[in-house]
Amino acid sequence: MGLTPSEKAILIAIGANDGISRKELAKTTGLSQGSITLLTKSLLNNMYIVEGDRISSGLGRKEVLLHTHPDKFYFLGIDIGGYRVRMAVSDNRLTILHAAEFLVADVDKDASKEDFIAAFANDFIAGIGWRTASIAAIGVGVTGIVDAGKQIILSIPNALNWGQLDLPQAFRDSFQCPVYVEEGGRTLLLAEKFLGKANDEDDYIVVHSAFSVVAGMMISGQILRGARNVGGLLGHITADPNGLRCTCGNYGCLENIVTYPMLERDYLLREARYPTLVEAYRQNDKTAIDVCIEAGQAFGIALSNVVNLFNPVAIYMGGPMFDDFPILFEEMKRTITLRANRFATMGLKMERSSHGHHQALYGTLILAKHELLFND
Ligand SMILES: [Zn+2]
Repeated sequence: MGLTPSEKAILIAIGANDGISRKELAKTTGLSQGSITLLTKSLLNNMYIVEGDRISSGLGRKEVLLHTHPDKFYFLGIDIGGYRVRMAVSDNRLTILHAAEFLVADVDKDASKEDFIAAFANDFIAGIGWRTASIAAIGVGVTGIVDAGKQIILSIPNALNWGQLDLPQAFRDSFQCPVYVEEGGRTLLLAEKFLGKANDEDDYIVVHSAFSVVAGMMISGQILRGARNVGGLLGHITADPNGLRCTCGNYGCLENIVTYPMLERDYLLREARYPTLVEAYRQNDKTAIDVCIEAGQAFGIALSNVVNLFNPVAIYMGGPMFDDFPILFEEMKRTITLRANRFATMGLKMERSSHGHHQALYGTLILAKHELLFND
């Protein structure tokens, strides 16, 4: 995009604090008032930002608030989970304008997965009356292993036959924009950093659990990637050496204990008096409560190890399990406090993440925007 580092800093600050005065912007970015005046003028002329309301600064002077220009760019975000694929288009403020989804299981097992996703995206864009040319960049998050250099999805442990997907190649025919692929846990991190509660945090973790366990770790301001881009694969650490075989090939993965289907399975294998765990839990069924407490403990033990290893300031957690089974969430927090080192848990925030089941989707939209504008 040819933006200077100062312009990028200003756009990032305005993106994170929608409606910010020039004076506040100078404070946030560390740039002088003079530079801010000059640079915001250029960004206004080039339609990156717009002026909004005037507010009083207290001494009679009125300050104009600056906002991201909503229509400068539009982005497509695609969140590929092990169970569901979500898609959304947003404006330049990352407000989701339209969304669609399909189930991984609904894709023919012999079909080319990348062609299916590209065709679905094409139909989605046409269905809302847009042209693919209006999309400036595409961000893809995937609950799996990604080759960072080649941008190829190497494996999605929860979805059989979903490996070696070259999405940038598949999108090339119908979309003329860049496609950026990132592991799903890291899109969760981006959403919390740029559109959530972690704006000022350099050490935090985001964990989501539904049909899989996905985690992203920000360590000293850097996203944890590891040598082969596999760092942070929390769902597939061993939590029970005698556990079931996981789709990844290992046995007793955390994901085999604390995901929705596994809790349900665990409940039904015991003396189940209700057809589903959710219903049993609502009726205060003891077996259901036991299942949730045990899962909370397993999750808490895994996370207490993470807390001791990385000493984060916060853990943000999301997923429908925590909505449906509050006791699981409470037991997990209690176990972390109990098991992790007390100096590491001092002041540790354990909260819900900001965007519920749209967290990863927002992350993919941020990925698209930030890679396009700020990482050139
Ligand atoms: Zn596994």
